[in-house]
Amino acid sequence: MTDPIQTIDPVTLYEGADLLTLDPAQPLIRNGAIAVSGARILAVGPQRELAKAYGARAQRVDWSGRLVLPGLVDGHSHLFQSLGRTLGDGLSLLPWLERFMLPLAANVTRADAIAIYRLAGLSSLLLGTTAIIDNHYAPVDPETIVTLAHEMEGLGLRGVVARGIFGPMVEGGRRMNCDPRLFRHSTAEEIALTRACLAAHPPGGLVEIWPMPENVVYLDPELMIACAELAAEQKIGWQTHCSESKFEVEIFKSLYGLRPALWLEAQGILSERTSLAHGIWFDAAEIEALGASRTNIVHNPVCNQYLASGILKLEPLLAAGANVSLGSDGMAVGGSGMFEAMKAGFLLQRLRELDPLATSAELMLEMATQRGAKLLRREVGQLAAGKLADFVALDMRGAVHQPLTRPAMAVVMAGLPPVTDVVINGATVISAGRSTLIDHDKVIADGLQAASDLIDRAGLRDLVCDWFAPAYSCCAKN
Ligand SMILES: [Zn+2]
Repeated sequence: MTDPIQTIDPVTLYEGADLLTLDPAQPLIRNGAIAVSGARILAVGPQRELAKAYGARAQRVDWSGRLVLPGLVDGHSHLFQSLGRTLGDGLSLLPWLERFMLPLAANVTRADAIAIYRLAGLSSLLLGTTAIIDNHYAPVDPETIVTLAHEMEGLGLRGVVARGIFGPMVEGGRRMNCDPRLFRHSTAEEIALTRACLAAHPPGGLVEIWPMPENVVYLDPELMIACAELAAEQKIGWQTHCSESKFEVEIFKSLYGLRPALWLEAQGILSERTSLAHGIWFDAAEIEALGASRTNIVHNPVCNQYLASGILKLEPLLAAGANVSLGSDGMAVGGSGMFEAMKAGFLLQRLRELDPLATSAELMLEMATQRGAKLLRREVGQLAAGKLADFVALDMRGAVHQPLTRPAMAVVMAGLPPVTDVVINGATVISAGRSTLIDHDKVIADGLQAASDLIDRAGLRDLVCDWFAPAYSCCAKN
């Protein structure tokens, strides 16, 4: 048992489950218990010991037969993109952005964003995600960004609304054929708008607001630097998309004479505050710079396969010292959450290295929890005394998941294990598969209505099809 913290406050004791703690001192506890008081974990250990220490005065919750693990951190998502779920299939990144996502984004209203935040956020919770770094880039006025931070908190989620920043149109944006409607503000205006968000919703709460200059290729370089400086000043993180597709690196090199990560290093803005989503096309010198600066890289293995972007170099990045965590990149790129991201990452790296020792289930769990916590800059990601109480209970007793001899492996290979309960910041937000805070049926109905209206408003109805038949399919029309 980890040393119990003494408290006079009410204690809840979750008992009888097997615990995947992610604590190297006791990674798996069979028939364990977690004592929670307020937002934090008081103690983790064998059920009998904790029952003795806290049982007499605790509220006791019977989790016999469950498997419990720290809540999963989705290091990079776009909740609003769920409005276009299943559309845009068959397009690689550039046409996917140009023909589908950027026109969709340009038409999203605040009401759409709120409706889909509730639906996609609920979906994330039901898939075991307890914290999300959500890159929201449509719309990005301070009122919408602050409202979405409150929406995220209203679902019980921890996380970040990373305000998507485009700034003025520059040559990189023209080369990427970006939708000019998204480039509406000067660099100074973007920083002022982000400051207004931070003033209205200061850092340190359950949900923070961070700056997210969208992409190293199509942003004004001065704006990228200004965002990193704002993050340092406010003691928060910042994120950008970097080196997702090979052609982005070529465009960047032709514009600035350096590869993207080396350019970021030269500006002095690679650090533990920095997180780069994707990071597939780094060379050896970039990997060295990213490792030396302890930069965060968010690996999105489902999205990278869906858009045929490439495979991240996991082992070299970890060996260099970079903090690589996992993300879903939202549900418009084929994913459905972090369990699936773990399985995809696990398999993809084995294939990249042609080596069954290239990954382990335990490493994937670490990336989805502890490494995600580092990225998030919060004391989560581990079942241990003193950590914030974010954890997820699974019921793996059914025939689909049995026999279950090595829990870490069973969880990662399951793809979509059944999540029954979710605790965040010490509060039960999902109980027996239902939100304790919102009305599921209304959230689904409102989300569907918003998605359908948006498809018409954005002129994307032609992307909706019942059956997509490739040329060689027996179902293709002659
Ligand atoms: Zn993304």
